[in-house]
Amino acid sequence: MKNKIKDIVIIGAGPSGSVAAGYLEKQQASILILEKQKFPRFSIGESLIPKCMDNFEEAGFLEALGFQKFLKKYGARFIRNNEIAEFDFSKKFGNGWDWTWQVPRADFDKALTDDLISRGVEIKFETEVTSVSRGDGLWRINISDRKGNTTKITSKFIIDSSGNGRVLAKHLNLEAPPKIYNHSSIFTHIKESSRPNGIEGAQITFEVLNTKTWFWYIPFSNGDSSLGFVGPNSWFKNFEGNNEEVFNSMLRETNYYKDRFDSYSLKFNPVKFSNISKNVKYIHGEGFALTGNSAEFLDPVFSSGVAFATESGLLAAKLALRENNGEKVNWELEYSRHIKNGVDVFSTYVKEWYSGKLQEIFFHPHPNPQIKEQICAVLAGYVWDSKNPFVRNHARILENLYQLIQKEKIV
Ligand SMILES: Cc1cc2nc3c(=O)[nH]c(=O)nc-3n(C[C@H](O)[C@H](O)[C@H](O)COP(=O)(O)OP(=O)(O)OC[C@H]3O[C@@H](n4cnc5c(N)ncnc54)[C@H](O)[C@@H]3O)c2cc1C
Repeated sequence: MKNKIKDIVIIGAGPSGSVAAGYLEKQQASILILEKQKFPRFSIGESLIPKCMDNFEEAGFLEALGFQKFLKKYGARFIRNNEIAEFDFSKKFGNGWDWTWQVPRADFDKALTDDLISRGVEIKFETEVTSVSRGDGLWRINISDRKGNTTKITSKFIIDSSGNGRVLAKHLNLEAPPKIYNHSSIFTHIKESSRPNGIEGAQITFEVLNTKTWFWYIPFSNGDSSLGFVGPNSWFKNFEGNNEEVFNSMLRETNYYKDRFDSYSLKFNPVKFSNISKNVKYIHGEGFALTGNSAEFLDPVFSSGVAFATESGLLAAKLALRENNGEKVNWELEYSRHIKNGVDVFSTYVKEWYSGKLQEIFFHPHPNPQIKEQICAVLAGYVWDSKNPFVRNHARILENLYQLIQKEKIV
């Protein structure tokens, strides 16, 4: 292999790296993607939110994704005992997309990379970045292929979109304590041979098992459905056996879905992740930016992972290109602060979900339509819209609303 200097090397071809590459391809930048696995490969993160669509559009993917006929997602439903809270993205505050997709990520990520390849982007699959070093303003990236052959690539800039591979976080010692502690998840897919009609068989639903623990049901257009649990590590310790036994015992703890999946076998042995929240000290430095999960992951509860992965991938690509073109970029202001502003909003909603306060707001029997629209815009991922009071004053307004509901209960 000739060791030509690449302007930008992207590590990882998940949604974050692919969106970065899609944008850069449109600008005819010199890029290379290094991807450890062979695609299609399984990944979790199957329920998108509308904000993702803006990013896929800007990176030039909407047409290719449209051909895949993924199941459209128009909203989300939360169930707690006999209470139901439904959010319809067409009834949200402000502008923006009012639908998105529920996607088996193996197919979705393959569709993104196939499109990139058809647009001339070079992707080296089954090529793992094993270490990186920097000198004279350039990165030397050591890679190893499927057969264990090693070589070096030189680049001016690295966009690290390696997800849980956390390549730069590990090599540059950037790991930091997570914002959400000690949460685990276990999940699998089933093939539903007879799916109920209407929203029962089409809409993503979250069932609350207790304040800190919940179950997801995500149907796909290929007939498969994703089922999973998220909760504190301590709750997971209540279940014994192998992953399949644990998963089946958990299913019996659900109320709404208890009997629905009895006749279906699991498509694969349930996968368990512990301590799922991740964080780093900083998300950019000389000649690099971290995007998507390699930077930070909060919690699956509001399906915000791919939205942040694509938002950060797109923005890092724009700034890296400007820098490579000789412009001075203020990464702290233009990158870190933008991502942090959005993460801060979602952090509040995630924190107050698990404190139970947001659940009291969601399941209020007579929600105020205007407030619901504003919260719906947050759930759709429009967390940078400062016209929305539920974005602008996120922490204070949720607390005030919760206190109001408590007073109402006393009166
Ligand atoms: C239980 C759970 C449920 C979730 N549910 C949702 C959801 O419903 N909706 C949602 O939006 N998000 C969800 N998420 C989050 C979502 O999975 C991630 O936010 C999203 O996949 C991040 O995308 P990414 O591109 O950053 O990383 P990834 O999609 O993980 O892609 C990273 C890529 O980098 C490659 N890589 C890793 N190391 C190396 C290396 N050394 N060299 C080369 N390549 C490498 C990997 O092979 C991989 O293909 C969930 C997360 C969890 C844990």
